[in-house]
Amino acid sequence: MQFLKRLFSSLKPIRLNGNNRLFLLFYYALRATKNNSARAELGYFKFFIHCTFSLVLLLIAALTICQMQAKTKLASKQHQQQSAYKRVRVLLKTIPTSANEPLLIGTTGKQLQLYDDAISLKRIKNGAALKVQQKNGQLFVNSKKYRQQKLIIASKDGHICFADKQYDGIISLVLHKNELLIINEVPIEEYICSVLRTESWPGWPLEVNKVFAITSRTYVVSMIDEAKKIARPYDVHNCNRHQTYQGVHDKKILKDAVKQTEGLIMAYNQKPIIAMFDSCCGGVIPADVQGVNFSDAPYLARSYACTYCKPCNIYSWQVSFSYDQLTEKLKQHLPKKARVSHILVSKQDRAELVQEVFIQCGKKRAYVDGKKLYSAFKEVKSFCYTITKDAKGVTFNGRGYGHHIGLCQWGAREMVRAGFDYRSILKFYYPGVTFSTIKRDDESSFY
Ligand SMILES: [Zn+2]
Repeated sequence: MQFLKRLFSSLKPIRLNGNNRLFLLFYYALRATKNNSARAELGYFKFFIHCTFSLVLLLIAALTICQMQAKTKLASKQHQQQSAYKRVRVLLKTIPTSANEPLLIGTTGKQLQLYDDAISLKRIKNGAALKVQQKNGQLFVNSKKYRQQKLIIASKDGHICFADKQYDGIISLVLHKNELLIINEVPIEEYICSVLRTESWPGWPLEVNKVFAITSRTYVVSMIDEAKKIARPYDVHNCNRHQTYQGVHDKKILKDAVKQTEGLIMAYNQKPIIAMFDSCCGGVIPADVQGVNFSDAPYLARSYACTYCKPCNIYSWQVSFSYDQLTEKLKQHLPKKARVSHILVSKQDRAELVQEVFIQCGKKRAYVDGKKLYSAFKEVKSFCYTITKDAKGVTFNGRGYGHHIGLCQWGAREMVRAGFDYRSILKFYYPGVTFSTIKRDDESSFY
């Protein structure tokens, strides 16, 4: 310590910088060697130099490691952003806690593998089929208990088989809120190809299938974003609540439509749009539909009619019911033991969509919301209808098939016949959108 005090007191009068400090250290060291009594101090000095040198090395190493970690984190974040849309998580089935029946998950190939999670890829088991179960919130595979909240089943040499259907990608088993979720994680392009089989119309031309491929892709990308925001463990359901998804198929025209529009989506303000679509709009002007928040989705507020779907069979429809049939279908909305004696549309919006229906049941009256009535009758194909009376009962005379918002599939079909390409068609139905491309990530080790 005495040595250090002397050393630094000798440095004080000088304005120090890195060079002259080093020089003084050497000068003092040389002076010390001339003095035998200072040899012990020279030992301290050497110790001091070694310590300083080691500390500097440690500091440099720590800084380098921190920098490398920061770079890795940044690269990982960028990779996640770039590959955010590489796959879609489709919920195939939800198993409640009370269900004890095992589910069978197989493969069209020879080998099926169970992993403990997507990162470590630790292989646990090979086999032709796996029995999956949950008991009291714990996962069982082939009767063996696993502590993980998520397990992955993959087949590298075939498709995954589940509930009589075959799937690309992997199956993840996720315990979530006391339920076991069976989720198919599948590359987006394969998902779109599958969805087109049920959401498109068999035999329609390639160009119209390109329209549907872009619409479906955009829709699912917007759903992926939504699922991320609310931390949902899956992106979409496999039913028409989102898009009907039934696994792999070999329809070449659909595969071509997906391939030729690979990664293409529609955007508004640089965000994927909510690409709603229905079968036939019935000529309804979407901007006039009440109850839709168009400020969030101005591209859905089309202010001109689609007339292209007019020649199609489902543009207009009729369905008749007797008063007994009406009573049966509407009983949950009626007073007890009431029988329908009269029904009429009591409220419509500017787009002529039914908002409310008035029902007379003898001396009693009831008002039913237009959407509830639509749900009660599967024969009523849209919200756009009038009701006429006849001797036997009533007849609903309607237009369109679906909710009247977004793309009209039959209209798009007729636009292709009239010579429009897929970009013009999409711009017609979703005014103001632009096109952008999402990247496909082929590096996933699971596929
Ligand atoms: Zn239309």
